[in-house]
Amino acid sequence: MKILVINCGSSSLKFQLIDSVTEDWLAKGNCERIGIDNSFVSYTKKGSDKVNIDADMPDHNKAIEKVVEILTTGDTAVLSSLSEIDVVGHRVVHGGEYFNEAVLIDDDVIAKITELNELAPLHNPANLIGIKALQKVLKDTPMVAVFDTAFHQTMPEEAYLYGIPYDMYVKHHIRKYGFHGTSHSFVSRTACEFLNKDYDKTKVIVCHLGNGASVSAVKNGKCIDTSMGFTPLEGLIMGTRSGDIDPAVIEFMAQKENTDVKGVINILNKKSGVFGLSEGFSSDFRDLEDGYNANKPGSTRAVKAFCYKVLKYIGAYAAAMNGVDVICFTAGIGENTSIVRKLICDNLGYLGVTLDEEANSKRGFNNVISTPDSKVTVAVIPTNEELEITRLTVNCLEKNGKLCK
Ligand code: AMP
Repeated sequence: MKILVINCGSSSLKFQLIDSVTEDWLAKGNCERIGIDNSFVSYTKKGSDKVNIDADMPDHNKAIEKVVEILTTGDTAVLSSLSEIDVVGHRVVHGGEYFNEAVLIDDDVIAKITELNELAPLHNPANLIGIKALQKVLKDTPMVAVFDTAFHQTMPEEAYLYGIPYDMYVKHHIRKYGFHGTSHSFVSRTACEFLNKDYDKTKVIVCHLGNGASVSAVKNGKCIDTSMGFTPLEGLIMGTRSGDIDPAVIEFMAQKENTDVKGVINILNKKSGVFGLSEGFSSDFRDLEDGYNANKPGSTRAVKAFCYKVLKYIGAYAAAMNGVDVICFTAGIGENTSIVRKLICDNLGYLGVTLDEEANSKRGFNNVISTPDSKVTVAVIPTNEELEITRLTVNCLEKNGKLCK
């Protein structure tokens, strides 16, 4: 089966065409600067070099038309016609409490995703635009919505409730939802397969450390807690996001900086994190790693604070699961920045973690980085959210009796 995976943002549209049998991608690309000047598509056909294709894309409908043209005509083509696409898997950021798994998209699903716009105003509206644009060109092709929040819907009440009046939850649905679910799901399962452990009997902590970052506790195949919350602002210190903060800071900062709540939230989302801690030096860990190695105070401060927060979440989740068997590192920083993994693992001796420094210096593949006698196995597991969306899409078709070969 050929699956088109779509990840639609407000001004971008990422796509990947994947063969569900080989689980290999056939083509992938990103429509960038949609609705802005100088829009273009970066595109790679399997076996060929990446190319940038200029394209006038004033809106997402035009972007989809361009994607169709690229996939089906000229040198870039990998399909003889659009009918070769068996199903479309859409990444949707917020599924609220409605969706605990991937679902076939129909009018009711679209209405619920629309209702959830207010919980994810930057993401769900863009995801809906992508769904509707695709529906116009692929009228009879089944489409599946795969939600970032769905994997975390197994969290128990004590983990997802905030300590606020209960009717705030009842009336306004204010609770922890968690994000990066497709990555946490993919990495926890892949780690157990790779380590020959029974997923349903293993306690896994996944550290998804990218520009956005979150930790999750996956006990016996089910997420029981995660660090992101009502929005992706809670939890770890991230590239530009503050993560956890005393809520009273918001009013105080607003007064001192002569701004309002919106202005403060903007600071917490866009000017904080390792970027803010390094005094605006960089949000990119490649720069911060260089700065740390050169003993630059801003980089050192940012890297140490980042690692300290991850360390605290690992301790909290080991406690929440009454133990931990496997700790996984994934995403841009988790997969690539060995110094971050070392700074964290060197402080996990109380759990019986021993790092294998030689293994920790490698990158790019599933890899155990703890020593054979380490009580907890530590592994680097590269994430693959598109592949997880593919698998969940196929599962969804199967459940709905719509699987074609
Ligand atoms: P992500 O959001 O998963 O794409 O991760 C982005 C973060 O990963 C940025 O802070 C990058 O600096 C970091 N990153 C990505 N690739 C590398 C690399 N090869 N070496 C070090 N850090 C990297």
